[in-house]
Amino acid sequence: MIPAEFDYRRAGSVDEAVELLGSAEDAKLLAGGHSLIPLLRLRFARLSLLVDIGQLDELRYVRRDGDRIAIGALTRHADLAQDPVLLASCAPLADAAAHVGDPQVRHRGTIGGSVAHGDPVGDLGTILLTLDADLVVVGPDGQRLIPVGQFFTGMFQTALGPQEVLTEIRVPEIAAGTYLKFVRRAQDWATVGVAAARVDGRVQVGLTSMGATPLRAHGVEEAVAAGAAPAEAAARTAEGTEPPSDASASAEYRAHLAEVLVRRALAQV
Ligand code: FAD
Repeated sequence: MIPAEFDYRRAGSVDEAVELLGSAEDAKLLAGGHSLIPLLRLRFARLSLLVDIGQLDELRYVRRDGDRIAIGALTRHADLAQDPVLLASCAPLADAAAHVGDPQVRHRGTIGGSVAHGDPVGDLGTILLTLDADLVVVGPDGQRLIPVGQFFTGMFQTALGPQEVLTEIRVPEIAAGTYLKFVRRAQDWATVGVAAARVDGRVQVGLTSMGATPLRAHGVEEAVAAGAAPAEAAARTAEGTEPPSDASASAEYRAHLAEVLVRRALAQV
């Protein structure tokens, strides 16, 4: 289908993007376009102005910054997947990015777009939640930091204001971690995904497609901290989750799958 009519402007800087977002009602940013363009074409989304930030190469980087790793919001999945800093010090993020969609999606889609989209089936949000990442956003009032635990507010909803641009994601360096993704077919979205990582000596666990947002498996984390073995801790995976039933899987099957993947992930960290 063809999208409804909209104006298009290309931003030359983050500040210009913020200004342009404020210049029209229903303005939206365009990064890699791999979530937004399909929505526009299907007319699930309509907007008056598309603000293209895809040329802002200064937002494409991965670098060490003190004890954190700073990732520019426009860094593409394919670049995350082979980044030497991430492979050495935050492997689950590189690994998850390597399994996002197909090569075309990975060479256009960006980490910022993935997170800002707030899709509960997205892989990267779960990793960031598991790692207690911080998100740097710039808006009309300047820059602010949003802890990822406050970022995902509902299905396809985030704490980003209408005039805010996500510019950077900060993650800790970790010694061990993994992301296990169960898919029905190769290159598919996650039926269920599980992230586990050792962050500051504590095991943290995140879940994909087990609710309206990425979730932390707090029951599992508590059990591990209390000394439970992987199978015993994994038995608490479904606590606080609301897995959907859809064409890929029933809620019961998702809960079972998540428990199995949590058990395997815990054995790796
Ligand atoms: P866009 O589509 O450009 O934007 C998405 C949303 O984020 C828009 O609302 C936009 O306004 C907003 N936005 C973008 N950048 C910013 C920013 N810097 N600040 C604030 N708001 C911003 N994802 C997975 O996780 N796993 C998968 O297996 C997977 N498979 C896919 C398969 C296919 C066939 C397709 C088309 C997509 C798939 N995706 C998957 C989604 C993919 O990862 C997208 O690239 C990503 O979700 C969105 O990134 P983008 O850069 O394309 O964002």
